[in-house]
Amino acid sequence: MNGPHASGSHVVIVGGGLASVRTAQALRDLGHRGRVSLVSEEPDEPYDRPPLSKEYLLGTRGAADIRLADPDEYARRDIELLLGRAVAGMDLRTRTLTFADGGEIGYERLVVATGARPRRLPDLPESGRVHYLRTAADSRRLAGVLTDGARVAVIGAGFIGLEVACAARLRGCRVTVVEAAAQPMAPIIGAEPAAWLRRWHSGRGLEFRCGTTVEKSEERPGGRLLWLGDGTVVEADVVVVGVGVVRDTAWLAAAGLETHHGLVCDETGRTSAADVFGAGDIVCRHTAGRCRPTGHWTAASDSAAKVAAALLGVPPPDLGEDGFFWSDQADLRLQFVGAAPPTATATVVSGDFDSGKFVVHYTEGDRLTGVFAANAPRDFLRGRLALRAIRPAIDEVRT
Ligand SMILES: Cc1cc2nc3c(=O)[nH]c(=O)nc-3n(C[C@H](O)[C@H](O)[C@H](O)COP(=O)(O)OP(=O)(O)OC[C@H]3O[C@@H](n4cnc5c(N)ncnc54)[C@H](O)[C@@H]3O)c2cc1C
Repeated sequence: MNGPHASGSHVVIVGGGLASVRTAQALRDLGHRGRVSLVSEEPDEPYDRPPLSKEYLLGTRGAADIRLADPDEYARRDIELLLGRAVAGMDLRTRTLTFADGGEIGYERLVVATGARPRRLPDLPESGRVHYLRTAADSRRLAGVLTDGARVAVIGAGFIGLEVACAARLRGCRVTVVEAAAQPMAPIIGAEPAAWLRRWHSGRGLEFRCGTTVEKSEERPGGRLLWLGDGTVVEADVVVVGVGVVRDTAWLAAAGLETHHGLVCDETGRTSAADVFGAGDIVCRHTAGRCRPTGHWTAASDSAAKVAAALLGVPPPDLGEDGFFWSDQADLRLQFVGAAPPTATATVVSGDFDSGKFVVHYTEGDRLTGVFAANAPRDFLRGRLALRAIRPAIDEVRT
């Protein structure tokens, strides 16, 4: 599909996050001599997102600590930064990108690494009280309202929601977590580990309303009222919504690229168009009839390394996608890899739930499908390596 490799060509990378910076760095590491331009709609130099719901939110790490590269690295490695420029459209035929504020930039090879945005709830538009979290600016705004005694409602008990809930508790807030599933993170880690997670956090002051959703919401002078499907009402000074992400695909589809939940790419990051690649959270891969969107840090970083290799025509690094992610929730370091399908059996293979230090293996028959650990990084790694040894089998069971 692609012509000769791109060792001297102008590569434009759209996006200012992890996948963009890692692609640019990997291109230079692999000896790319041509121009590299990184275009981001954000005004800030690229930064890492995981701290936004953890140390940055709590103020224990500042802007300088979460940069994805030293400020002088871009100049030293001849990576051109175009900040505060949103790309609004593209023409595949003329290989031109159009900026939202006017003007154009041409490319010879294009990498789309535009990430994802929080899914918005129509009844909870962003306001002084209602927060969504994706950017450093979002995190700073939220930090400003997580004050001692504030009533905080977190909608969605996925990993970002729980991290924010823990940070709010550490700030002395009174926190209620509303979750549609029967237990926090249950769709990912399965019923029994999720029931443990709820007990753990309840013991540290989080209040849960699970198996229900927000049906109606209203701003009142004294707070935001949330009417839940279970008939209860939550009144909050601060509402944080963490109910997943959406990917901006309209401008990519309009240009003629194949899109679905994200930009459809193959294993190496190639899209349906010659000379256009995708990296990071914007990507979804379609294999074995399933759509697999990218959504975690390690997968985003690995996909960038693969795209750089594909651009330069060198063999891809051996980085199988195994669905790994971590989440730091107050005194818990959670790690997960593989899959925990509803049909799998979850068995604690080391430690125990009560101590908050354990490893769970998920199995179907005698086949390992996933590993989940709390505060047990070494044993987790052992399980992860065991999974890696049977990687094709993991791919079959991932949803
Ligand atoms: C608060 C938070 C905490 C997280 N914690 C963890 C964690 O603990 N563990 C884990 O595994 N993962 C975590 N993640 C996920 C991880 O950070 C993401 O997977 C990763 O950031 C994806 O990188 P990316 O470069 O693909 O996308 P992003 O980081 O989203 O970067 C995309 C960039 O593209 C820019 N952009 C978008 N559209 C355009 C356009 N049209 N023109 C120009 N620029 C554009 C965006 O503004 C942004 O700068 C967390 C994410 C968040 C938000």
